[in-house]
This record gives sequence, structure tokens and C-alpha cells, in this order.
Amino acid sequence: MKISNWGNYPVIDANVYVPNDKNAVYEAIEGKKNWIGRGMGRCYGDSSLAETSISSLKMNRFLAFDAQKGILTCESGITFEDILATFVPKGWFPPVTPGTKFVSMGGAVASDVHGKNHHIEGSFSQHTLSLVLMLASGEIITCSREENTDIFWATFGGMGLTGIILQVTFQLKKIETAYIKVDTIKAKNLEEILGLLLDFEHATYTVAWIDCTTSGSNMGRSILMKGEHASLEQLRNTKYAANPLAIPQKLKLNVPFYFPAIALNKLTVGAFNFAYYNKQFSKEISLIQDYDSFFYPLDAIHHWNRIYGKRGFTQYQFVIPKAAGYEGMKKIMEIVVKAGMASFLAVLKTFGKQDGLLAFPMEGYTLTLDFPISPQLFPILDTLDEIVSNYGGRIYLTKDVRVSAEMFAKMYPKLPEFQVILQKIDPKHAVQSLQSKRLNINV
Ligand SMILES: Cc1cc2nc3c(=O)[nH]c(=O)nc-3n(C[C@H](O)[C@H](O)[C@H](O)COP(=O)(O)OP(=O)(O)OC[C@H]3O[C@@H](n4cnc5c(N)ncnc54)[C@H](O)[C@@H]3O)c2cc1C
Repeated sequence: MKISNWGNYPVIDANVYVPNDKNAVYEAIEGKKNWIGRGMGRCYGDSSLAETSISSLKMNRFLAFDAQKGILTCESGITFEDILATFVPKGWFPPVTPGTKFVSMGGAVASDVHGKNHHIEGSFSQHTLSLVLMLASGEIITCSREENTDIFWATFGGMGLTGIILQVTFQLKKIETAYIKVDTIKAKNLEEILGLLLDFEHATYTVAWIDCTTSGSNMGRSILMKGEHASLEQLRNTKYAANPLAIPQKLKLNVPFYFPAIALNKLTVGAFNFAYYNKQFSKEISLIQDYDSFFYPLDAIHHWNRIYGKRGFTQYQFVIPKAAGYEGMKKIMEIVVKAGMASFLAVLKTFGKQDGLLAFPMEGYTLTLDFPISPQLFPILDTLDEIVSNYGGRIYLTKDVRVSAEMFAKMYPKLPEFQVILQKIDPKHAVQSLQSKRLNINV
């Protein structure tokens, strides 16, 4: 069948297996080469694409929950949406969450996802206690900080290459309400928003929407959103007080077909960004929002990826160290603005310190830019790669579909350590994705 990920590029023919337990996973992989694990297909590029795809979507059972400590064990096909629906009413929340709740736990581990709280609470690995993994040989192992430690760390950010993640045990976060106390602050340019992100480093969640269509003194005008889980006290005298742990019920919109390629151009994207920035009149606003509106605003529009048309799109997400911050960001934004590569959605966040083999985060600033696929795009992204790597930064593999093997090796200096582990657990290179082949990971 034809499969693709969130960027709808590339679209490939694959043999898709949807096993519902470990025995069926073994039957699906036995004796095969070129297979890779797959969750909800929310990575943007080719990380979960291969000749044979092993989907986790029927392995979606909760296995154990310690209600005192908030420790959850579940199968890898459980999604953030499942966790929120079951555990928010009990007063627990995912410790880290990406910008969509339609992501599986297998995908969260394989990409070592980060949220708006990385600067304080790290990425998903930081809250994970153990994993159950099926290696290429079919052997099932448990790995943790005490057991099979090298495989444990290689699996976070390892993009599925260490085997099929069967189970994940991790710590949930205690909450009093399902609401977030949000403050939004307007910044007139890049310099101001980078300063605000630093000023509010103590806030649990921070994220900035940034306008990447303006130049000159307005370049990088932004809206910073910072949030904290609201306490019961903060909900007192509001309409939410009666049911503080309610799951938000939202009307879902849908993009029913692919938009024509001309729908998103410099003018329409510029107009959207102008309207978005100016919808907030005052410099600062405070409000209480349900968690869906704060963490997952795009989930309200099903198939929003279709607005990029049938050719698809890619997301360029990079991180650069703090020291390079303003200078590096400015250089990249100038190229994007000059090339007229208006990005509809651009999101800026800060990362705290992190160590890992192929995990993406490092202490610094991270920016995401969405671009429709076009013949001119990839050469410009190659130029951006040079700038990012010269500043000691890197791009996020889960969003990538085109970086070169040489550039990837430069950006990820711990690749040889990762390869030693792969050689040990998968010497025949059975596990391969289109991405791992392009990047020469399994050598
Ligand atoms: C709108 C949107 C917002 C996003 N926001 C963020 C964000 O804020 N932060 C962030 O970090 N990411 C973000 N992402 C990216 C997303 O979190 C990751 O791509 C995640 O890995 C997707 O998980 P998935 O279940 O869809 O897996 P897939 O996309 O199917 O696969 C992703 C990777 O996980 C591997 N994998 C999946 N399941 C298994 C398994 N059971 N065993 C072994 N390997 C497996 C695949 O091989 C692949 O390498 C966002 C994506 C979208 C579409």
C-alpha cells in the first residue's frame, strides 16, 4: 500500500504489517531486511518509511499504572491522545508533549520528543524509566538506566533503528486542573523575543510564534506564550471551577482535499502573519486556556497538512547554541525572507542541556519553518545547513527528508558511537529506513 508521513513527501509503496502482539511482530520481521517500526506517521519525512513497515497501532493497551507514583507502563502504539483522555480526569499529565497529541509512545521514544518545557524538564527520555524492545534477531530485551544502558540511550533519538519498541514505562506529572494559566507577550523583533525567552526561562512552558515574512527592524516580530498548569485556586470564580479536570470538547474542522499549489504564496502567508501578529492589540494578555488550546492548537484542524498541496511540504527544524543565538538566527531568517520562502508557521523555543547519541536537543534556540516542496527549496536548505553546522548546531531527523550524509555526520559527532551499538545488535542491517539509507547510518 501507499504510505507517507506528515509532509506527504515522499509517498512510497510499502508492505505494511499491523501486528497486535510480540509474536505477530516476530512473524512480520523474521528473515526480512529493510523494515522499520512505525507509529502515527507524524514525523514529516522518511524516518518511518521502508520497504516493510511494522505499525504499532494495534499494540495500544495500557499495561500497568501506579496511582501513587504516577508511573505508567503501556504498549508503544498508545498515543498522547489516549493518555490525556484516560489520565487527565485522574489528575495526571504527560511529562513532555509534542505539538500534536496524535503521536505514539514508540514515536515519542524513537525521536526523543521535546515539548515547550525542554529548558526546564528535558525531553521524553528524561522521564522514561524503561523500554521493552524487540531486536532485529527477534530477541526481546528490557533496557533502562541500569540494564542494557547503551541500547536504552541509543533508542532515544535512534529513529527506530535499534528495533521495535514494544513497551514504554514512564513518569506522568501530577496536575490539579486540565487548564493552563497563559501569559502572552508581543515582541517587536528578533532581538526582543530572544531576550524575553531568556527572561522567562524559569517558566515551565514557553514558546513563541515568530513572523518569518518581515525584514528590517520588524524582522522576527513574535508573540511569546508562557504557561503553567493552573491550580484549583486559580480556577476559583471561573466557569471551569465546576469540573476542573474536564477533557476539552472541541468542534473539529477538516481540510477535505489538497489545496492547489498556488494557495500558499508569499502574499497569503504574509497576510496571515500580519493578521496573527496584530490580532493581539495590547503588549501583554493573561488568560486561562484548556490544555488542547495551549498545547495542540493545530489538532483542531484535521489534515491541515493538505493546505500545502499534493507535492507536500517539509519542516526545517534546527537548533543552534545560545552563544550563536541572535547572530545565527538573524542570518538564517535573512536568507529565508530574501528568498521569499515565506513559512506559514514558524515556532521558536529554547532547549536546556541534553546529552545523547542521536537525540536532537542541545542547549540553545530551536526554530521550525514549514516549506512547500519545490525545485528551488533543497539547495536553499543546504545553505541553511552550512550556517547551522558552522554555529555548532544541527537539524531534527524526525522532520528531515533531504539532509546529506556528510552534513548529518558533521552535525551529529556521536554517530560513530551509535553505529558501534547498531553493529552489535543488528550486524546484518535488517532494520533500515529510507532515511537511514540516505544518511549511511547502517554501515
Ligand atoms: C503538528 C506536529 C507537531 C509536532 N511537534 C513536535 C514537537 O513539539 N516536538 C517534537 O519533538 N516533535 C514534534 N513533532 C514530531 C513528532 O513528535 C515525531 O515525529 C514523532 O516521532 C512522531 O511519532 P509517530 O507515532 O507519528 O511515529 P512515526 O512518525 O510513524 O515514526 C517516527 C519515528 O519513530 C519510529 N517509531 C515509531 N514507532 C516505533 C516503534 N514502535 N518501534 C520502533 N520505532 C518506532 C519510526 O521508525 C520513526 O523513526 C510534531 C509533529 C507534528 C505533525
